[in-house]
Order: sequence, then structure tokens, then C-alpha cells
Amino acid sequence: MQGLMQDWPLTVDKILDHAKAWHGGREIVSRSVEGPIVRTTYAEVYERAKRVSNALLGLGILPGDRVATLAWNTARHVEAWYGIMGMGAICHTLNPRLFAEQLVYIINHADDRIILTDLTFLPILASIRDQIPGVKHIIVLADEAHLGDSLPGALAYETLVANASADIAWGGFDENTAAGLCYTSGTTGNPKGVLYSHRSNFLHTLVTMGSDVLGIKATDTVLPVVPMFHANAWGLAFSAPAVGAKLVMPGPKLDGASVHELLETEGVTFSAAVPTVWQMLLTHLRTSKGTLSTLKRVVIGGSAVPEAIVRGFRDEYGVDVTHAWGMTETSPLGTQATPNHAIAQMGDEQQLQFKLKQGRAPLGIQLKLVDDEDKLLPHDGETFGRLKVSGPFVVGEYFKSEGGNILDAEGYFDTGDVATIDEHGVMQITDRAKDVIKSGGEWISSIEIENIAAGHPKAELAAVIGVAHPKWDERPLLLVKLMAGESAAKDEFLQFLDGKIAKWWMPDDVVFVDEIPLGATGKIDKKLIRERMKDYVLPASSPATSGTAALAAPPEPKIYAPEPPVAVVEDDAWLNWTLDAAQAVDRSHPTQPAAVDQAEAPADAQGPFPAK
Ligand code: ADP
Repeated sequence: MQGLMQDWPLTVDKILDHAKAWHGGREIVSRSVEGPIVRTTYAEVYERAKRVSNALLGLGILPGDRVATLAWNTARHVEAWYGIMGMGAICHTLNPRLFAEQLVYIINHADDRIILTDLTFLPILASIRDQIPGVKHIIVLADEAHLGDSLPGALAYETLVANASADIAWGGFDENTAAGLCYTSGTTGNPKGVLYSHRSNFLHTLVTMGSDVLGIKATDTVLPVVPMFHANAWGLAFSAPAVGAKLVMPGPKLDGASVHELLETEGVTFSAAVPTVWQMLLTHLRTSKGTLSTLKRVVIGGSAVPEAIVRGFRDEYGVDVTHAWGMTETSPLGTQATPNHAIAQMGDEQQLQFKLKQGRAPLGIQLKLVDDEDKLLPHDGETFGRLKVSGPFVVGEYFKSEGGNILDAEGYFDTGDVATIDEHGVMQITDRAKDVIKSGGEWISSIEIENIAAGHPKAELAAVIGVAHPKWDERPLLLVKLMAGESAAKDEFLQFLDGKIAKWWMPDDVVFVDEIPLGATGKIDKKLIRERMKDYVLPASSPATSGTAALAAPPEPKIYAPEPPVAVVEDDAWLNWTLDAAQAVDRSHPTQPAAVDQAEAPADAQGPFPAK
């Protein structure tokens, strides 16, 4: 027997309908790409998004077509999302920090028909225009006056919006209709498309609104620093209008000073970003003696949050940090480190240890920890295993079935993360399966060491990779980027780690570098670091080589250590990123190997990179 409740398809246009109806006057404030701060409201965004739908129809877009955006977080980008999705087309968010070759591959693979772009990215599009023939129109999110002539044939967004009618019915289709498309960053092989449905986005919104997840309210002012092109800004462009929160969009300026200015002038109470952004903000606040007068909570995810950031926000600025984990394949929020009843009874310091873990699963996310034979592993907080996940907003298969069947017999997706789950159900990522360091049959968590090292007062960033070792297979190597103007000796870092990690986890060497490269989503690019360090040889006097310290006898393997991920097949196109292409646009990928800064590094820093 079926229930007798109303059939009300969960389509995301209803989110903006709701915001317009009940929070129509609530503001969306953007730092525009053109420069000035621009203010609008949910009611205006709703009306303009409807015009976007009609403009797209006028340009030949049909339901199911892919319409891409290459844009910063602004109100126009929000309008574009709802305009595209509301009419049943699919919004494909492009990450501008990808290399040109990657963008070409993704745009062609998705078969994008139109790209809406910010002015910033016109040079990228001009350089690849002849390689993306399926793209019929490029719409520049600007008015005619700013359009310029760098991309012949490009259309001005403001003209299209002004000339289109706002009269169009949204929705009315099945809730399983595709709404959004986002490609994984492609660190292993070609990027793969995750195709979200209206239903999965709607459910993700409902779940993440929960008070033990993002917990944002109508009274909040929300600043998503995390870009809409990176895992959907963690759903904030849905959840903020869903609750009627004010939205503050940072546009292209994500540096500490610019973010701080918006936090203060707009009265932001809640924000979300990857750890590197918060580290930049903390550094800015400390040097400028700035304050945070309204900010109450920040959610940090995408990479593990270092303890120093949690303490810095809590102790110096009274801001609560919540750690979250997720991935493009989970829409993206998977777990959130809010305390359960038992943890909430603990003292502050004990609670902090749980805040550093990646957190608990909300309703709608099922987690399991398994070994290579898919046998369940205990939730004892110590046993490492593969983390698998299932739920209504978790990927079922990749776009165009790339990669074949990606679910196990029980319908779980293998995240590629290695994790523990403790007796409170709190999950902790110990590594990506491909980054974990295998030493003497045991596993060493690169993330744990780098997070502790990053807490050294002289460190700006730290990264740990495994390097080949004749006896132990691999040993950890610590790379440190020092704060500007600092110098340090290797021993300062080794002593700092002493007592905080097992002795046999102690890095065999410390190398000071002037750059730790970040990938397209702001995470440490270990693939690039490994490439740069491929000729590096551990010093003969390292503890492992000399057989001293506890390394001579690593403990008997007792924890689960899965095999490395299946061989990664890399498409030629991905290997052939040329220097020219890398230099064509401004992005975080460096174009030259970083040099050890001779002025700042100590005399014993023997980096593998050529001196400047
Ligand atoms: P995104 O680019 O959206 O961050 P990706 O799908 O590229 O997502 O990467 C997801 C991966 O990022 C996860 O599988 C995990 O390895 C890592 N990750 C995300 N959040 C955290 C976190 N809080 N701590 C450690 N690693 C994380």
C-alpha cells in the first residue's frame, strides 16, 4: 500500500521559491569581479534567475543540456545556478585553477553547450576556444561596457538578462532529473564527472541544515569562501537561501585581508573554507592586530585541520571551528566533527582531540570501515581501514559510466581514504590510500605528522611524503615552508615532533622549501611534490639508515594495511601539461620547481631544488 501524501518532487528551484517568498528582502552581498561591493536580495536574484532561464532557452538550451560556469562566488553565479537548474538543464561547475588541457577535456567530455564566465577567465577561454567546438556561446558575467574584445562573439550577461522575460515555470520534472555536474580533481587518471540530481541536492541541503551539521539559521550571515566551483561550495548556495540567511560572496579576493574586511563590514557569523584559507586569515589577523567581532563559527574541510588553527581561532578570537570531511562524490559533506552527548561532557582539552578528527555521519550517510577482503573492521579508534560510504547523495556511477561499476556488493562507494572510527563513531582520516607511508610493513600517517609540524611557530605550511628506502621500503620526509623572515634548523622540527608521534614515525630528514604546492582545490599537491623530489636521496646519517632509534625494530604489524590502490593509468593528455599552458593563466600551480631560499634556510638545508 502506498502512502497518501502529496507528490512534491524535491527539485532545487523550490529552494529559491522559498527564499523569495519568505526571505525576499534578505541580502546577497558580493565583492564583484569588477571591484565594487554589490548588494541584491533573494527576491531580485529569483527574478533575474528566471530571466537567465529564458535567455538560455532563447540560445537553444534544452532540458538535459550542459551549461557550464567558470566563475567566482558572486550573486550572478547564484542566479546562473538556479536559472540553469530551474529549467531542467545541468549546471557544470568548472574549476578555473585546472590546467588548460584539463578544462578542454572536461568541457568536451561533458559536452557543454554554453559557458558563463567571469571576466577574469576570458584569457583562459580565449586560449582554448578553438579546442571546444561543442560550446556554442560564451556569456560573460558582466555588462557590455566591461566586455572588451578579448573573446570575439562573447555575449554580455547583463544584456541577456535585461532582454529576457522573467515569466517561466520552473521544475515540474522528476526529482531524479540531473541538476549539476562536477568533475573530481583528477589526481589519479582523468577527472570523472559526478552528476548530482535535484533530489540528491535537495536531500543534501536538508541534511546539512541540521544543527549537528552546518546548523545555519535565518539569523546567520554566511560567507562561503569555499568556491561554488569546488564541490558546490559545500552546498551553501542551497542551504543559505533555504534558511533565509544573508549570503556574503567574496568574489575573486580570497586573501586574508580581503576575507577579513568582508567578515567585519558585513557582520558575518558563519564561514566555510579549506585550512589554507584560514591559515592565511590567522596570519593576517596576527600581523594586522585585527579582530573578529561577529564571527562565531567556521567549518573547515577539504584537508585535515591542523590543531594550531583550531586553537588559534578558539583562544585568540573566540571562534568555534568545526571540522568536516567530504568529497565531490558525497555532494560533498560526509561527516562533521560536532560532539555527541558523551563527548560534550568532556573537558575542553579532551573535546579538542575529537574536534581534530573528521567527525560523525549524519542521517543520510552510512559509513563502513573494511579490509581488502571487504571484511568489517572494529570501531576501536586504532584499526586503519578503507572508508566506504553510501547514501542518497553519494555517487552511484560516474557520468558516462567512466570507471565502470564503482559500488561494492552492498552498494557502498570506496572513498580511497584510509580511516579509523572510534567507539563514539567519530571517524578520522589517516591518509589517502595513495599517500600513506609504508615503513617496515607498518603504516605511517603523513597527515598526522604534517599537521603537528604545521603547528610549529615558525612553520607556514608542512608536507610529508614517503621516500624510497632500501631497508624499510619507505621513510617519511618532512618539507617545511617557513613563515616569511624565519630561519630554522632541522632539529627544531624534529624536537618539536618528539613525544608527539611514535619514534619510528620520526621523519628521516627535514627539507626547507620556499613553496609547498597546492592543487586546484587548495590541497597540498603531493603528486607534484613527489615528482619534484624524485631525485632526492635520504641522508646517510638518517636514523633509519644508521639503524638507530626505534626504527631498527618497528612494531610487529598488527593494524590493517591495505595494498596500494590499483595501478593508476594516466592518459597522455594529463602528463603532457606543458610549461606554456601552465603559465597561460594565474593559478596556484607553480610553473617552476620551488627553490630553497638560501637567505632564509639554514646552512644545512640541502633541498633538491636548484637555488634561485
Ligand atoms: P574536494 O576537491 O571536494 O575536496 P575531492 O573529491 O577532490 O574533494 O577530495 C576529497 C578528498 O579530500 C577526500 O577523499 C579526502 O581524502 C580529502 N579530505 C576532504 N576533507 C578532509 C578532511 N577534513 N581531512 C582530511 N582529508 C579530507
